Amino acid sequence: MRYVSTRGAWAGSPQPFCAILLEGLAPDGGLAAPEVYPRLTHDEIKAMRGLSYGRLAHAILSRFITDIPAADLAALIDGTYTAAIFGSDAITPLTTLKPGLHLLRVSNGPTLAFKDIALQLLGNLFEYVLEREGRDLNVLGATSGDTGSSAEYALRGKRHVNVFMLSPHGRMSPFQQAQMYSLTDSNIHNIAIEGVFDDCQDIVKAVSADAAFKARWRIGTVNSINWARVAAQVVYYFKGYYDVAEMVGDPVDFAVPSGNFGNILAAHVAKAMGLPVRRLVLATNENDVLDEFFRTGCYRPRAAAETHATSSPSMDISKASNFERYIFDVVGRNASVVRSLWDQLGREGGFDLRATPYWSRVVESGFISGTSTHSDRIATIRQCAHEFGVVIDPHTADGVKVAMDHSDSNVPMVCVETALPAKFAATIREALHHDPALPPAYADLGQRPQRCTVLPPEVERVKAFIAAHASVETT
Ligand SMILES: *Cc1c(COP(=O)(O)O)cnc(C)c1O
Repeated sequence: MRYVSTRGAWAGSPQPFCAILLEGLAPDGGLAAPEVYPRLTHDEIKAMRGLSYGRLAHAILSRFITDIPAADLAALIDGTYTAAIFGSDAITPLTTLKPGLHLLRVSNGPTLAFKDIALQLLGNLFEYVLEREGRDLNVLGATSGDTGSSAEYALRGKRHVNVFMLSPHGRMSPFQQAQMYSLTDSNIHNIAIEGVFDDCQDIVKAVSADAAFKARWRIGTVNSINWARVAAQVVYYFKGYYDVAEMVGDPVDFAVPSGNFGNILAAHVAKAMGLPVRRLVLATNENDVLDEFFRTGCYRPRAAAETHATSSPSMDISKASNFERYIFDVVGRNASVVRSLWDQLGREGGFDLRATPYWSRVVESGFISGTSTHSDRIATIRQCAHEFGVVIDPHTADGVKVAMDHSDSNVPMVCVETALPAKFAATIREALHHDPALPPAYADLGQRPQRCTVLPPEVERVKAFIAAHASVETT
């Protein structure tokens, strides 16, 4: 399997997986995408039913990762998807809320959000590839809470990798702050910036724009557009499908609370591989850029100032970074069409596919969408607690709300649970008037000593800190 860019780079020389693993954007600003999706036959999909999570992950990921020997890949996967890390042998257990409505629980990793499923594997892949290539990587990132902690828990203690994570000083939830700042691994550097999240992100952009500094200190990123993350997420859509389909071939719907379009893109890829998924129900919060696209055909990213701070904060996005991969498929994988759409985006702030031949492909792709608001979230958390005895987090509630609006008694609906309620105590208290349960591993979180380095929002100060703590091995 080789990879091309959604905007045409590498067309003459598609790249192997390990070459795109450590890169951010392609040189033309596009995203890495497989040359073709691996197609599985009905019999192959049937034969994979009943596999353990690890064997299923290997069966799927070995189609995307063909430049790591099978035995090594299997060992990396087996070291990742364990009951010790994810809480059960099922890794992503399924709970039935009521007949035809299910919850796929992909949030039982170390930071209690679905991002762990992909990032825990990414940490092991990074270490393996860096070891093989004899080089180091210094990961620089900015976080408002979730992604940063998931990346830190994935990379803590890994050889050849340091993490420099900028977070807004005093602006994360107490749980998120404790989760990150209590890590004591010597390769994890938490930098609390005296500013807001946008200041952190601007510093990361400024450092990354300095090509000489970036090369000298081997700066890399772990962002949501990393292809390996999407590939790792494909696995649990197969798992969820097998859990609810009576017979392989029966249709199943999935509902996914969405922000950067990474999670639901994995469902789209599973479908493209041949998994008999019928509808993909995309749920947004008040930041409804994606709902607007699927309803009207118009994709119009918002300005940062137009982005609402909501009670499902991990979905507060103004543009959906993985969306370009979906559009690449919709336009028949024609990179020059993607290029011209993104040029138009830059010039006019949006594009409209409704009047184009591509709109019928959007409709055929099975996506439908809806928006959920704060009051929907609260009502849905209450309903799930009272009717089904299950406490869900605010993001999952957005998904369940939109799923129930679109459910159809003939086809099972699987809602993807993207975080555990423990992370969002204030909203749970508002809905249920009590605190969410804290998983045992976090019982003493509040008591653990915390450490971070506080810096002013100045690029040069951050660069100096990196230079003093980065590792660069050249062999
Ligand atoms: C990241 C995240 C999302 C959004 O997922 P995307 O892949 O960006 O669409 C939803 N819920 C939670 C809890 C998240 O952490």
